[in-house]
Amino acid sequence: MSEAVESLNFIEHIVEEDLKNGYSTQDLRFRFPPEPNGYLHIGHASSICLNFGLGLRYNAPVNLRFDDTNPAKEEQEYVDAIKKDVEWLGFKWDTERYASDYFQQLYDWAIELIKQGKAYVDEQSSEVMAEQKGTPTQPGTNSPFRDRSIEENLAGFQKMKDGEFDEGTHVLRAKIDMSSSNMLMRDPIMYRVLHKVHHRTNTDWCIYPMYDWTHGESDYIEQVSHSFCTLEFAMHRELYDWFLDQVIDVKKLRPKQREFARRNLSHTVVSKRKLLQLVEQNVVTGWDDPRMSTLSGLRRRGYTPESIRNFVETIGIAKRDNLIDVSLLEFHVREHLNKISPRVMGVLDPVKVVITNYPEGEVEWLDTENNPEDSSAGTRQIPFSREIYIEKDDFKEEANRKFFRLKLGGEVRLKSGYIIKAESCTKDTDGNITEIQCTYDPKSKSGSGTEESLRKVKGTLHWVSVAHALQAEVRLYDRLFTDESPDTHKDKDFMEFINPDSLKVITGFLEPSLSGAKPGDRVQFQRLGYFCVDPDSTTEKLVFNKTVGLRDTWAKLQSK
Ligand code: ATP
Ligand code: MG
Repeated sequence: MSEAVESLNFIEHIVEEDLKNGYSTQDLRFRFPPEPNGYLHIGHASSICLNFGLGLRYNAPVNLRFDDTNPAKEEQEYVDAIKKDVEWLGFKWDTERYASDYFQQLYDWAIELIKQGKAYVDEQSSEVMAEQKGTPTQPGTNSPFRDRSIEENLAGFQKMKDGEFDEGTHVLRAKIDMSSSNMLMRDPIMYRVLHKVHHRTNTDWCIYPMYDWTHGESDYIEQVSHSFCTLEFAMHRELYDWFLDQVIDVKKLRPKQREFARRNLSHTVVSKRKLLQLVEQNVVTGWDDPRMSTLSGLRRRGYTPESIRNFVETIGIAKRDNLIDVSLLEFHVREHLNKISPRVMGVLDPVKVVITNYPEGEVEWLDTENNPEDSSAGTRQIPFSREIYIEKDDFKEEANRKFFRLKLGGEVRLKSGYIIKAESCTKDTDGNITEIQCTYDPKSKSGSGTEESLRKVKGTLHWVSVAHALQAEVRLYDRLFTDESPDTHKDKDFMEFINPDSLKVITGFLEPSLSGAKPGDRVQFQRLGYFCVDPDSTTEKLVFNKTVGLRDTWAKLQSK
């Protein structure tokens, strides 16, 4: 086995095996099949990268197929959002498909099945049918409608289609085996009556095919070679194959379903249904709230597509469900942002510093580099004046030798500026420090001499000139859930673990170079973390989201 083959994941191995055993690369075709009943989340990214990744590896087409068989929950808004997210992740689909485009074909096949005595119309309630299903250890019992004549079934199915029945009164069932050890084979429902408007077919249909009947046949219609899905469909594979057997033309390619593990991320939920609940109950501001595990939320938060792809690549494809710590995702975005983000200065919890020996009214523009990780990023100028802001916690009246920030009698360097020394401070009646008085050393300006000739001090602080500072709304985020795995508790609903402090909105003071910042722009506020301009931002009012802090909690977790 070559080295390249050894590093394949087990799904890629399946494809390699098939290529060895007679498939040609021309036969390969994949699909990503979302149901448009919500926005895509980070779990979907695994499936997208897997399917589109295979397409790239084998130069094979990948369809984007909307599994739109349930008009009660599906909407055009979701279709649009899904397309935007897949594109944003960096993938191109071959063709855009809809299961609803196959409604007529599926209907025609259903008629064929009825004619072959392999499907029947059942008029029992869902409760009664559920009772007749039996249990995994007990066989089911036949429906009294199971043996009605073909003519009766054709007429009944026609009436279902013509809208003569109410919802829940009639279904079309496949006639398979009520005593199969696989419960899904016990005469599964193929069609139900739904008097709902469909986002694409409008009111053309009032019967809708079930997922199991639709999915495999759609793969077959599109001649998808490999249909990869998550593990919960493993038991459905037998039915997938049974349905295919009924319609297949042996001259055509037979799609193959294989399963991989669903990806779960800690401190969040990855289920469209649960994410919808967060939106509907206004726990978050929308599907793209930066605290959401949705791709649109991560994008708004400042995540890059590269960082998500790298994360997905790192976690790989697994055969068993497991929980991935969110700090691994944060590690990847931090790593990418470190390379691409311009460095700027902003003070988020300010205290004023007055430099008493600096002339009043004077302004100096200091050169500073845009990104030490990227020499092509160039430099810019930042204003320095007699009054500046620094972070409150960068100053202590007294501190031990290990405190390399500012303390009374101590010195620090202002980033790209001068060395200052704290001489005294002023407090309010509650003892809070309201102002620090410092002196500066005029001969210590950064870049004013050679490295050696410049005096060195231990600490360097970020700062902004008070007179030039831009005020911005800064949104700081914490985990949306306090529990690592909120939706796995038997006795508690996931909503009980919502973190009440997941959003904190503050006012930050930023260097003036940010005045033209546009939604989507990403920067590093030096010493604080990575931030991104929110779509709510306007020229009058800048709004920043904190993407992630600078400290790597993932590495810490690993070394525990
Ligand atoms: P949800 O429960 O969030 O609605 P779903 O599986 O019902 O998820 P689909 O729209 O049917 O959502 O998913 C499209 C594809 O993405 C499917 O092939 C599905 O198996 C895959 N997928 C969904 N969630 C995950 C996940 N957490 N990890 C990996 N793949 C996933
Ligand atoms: Mg689903």
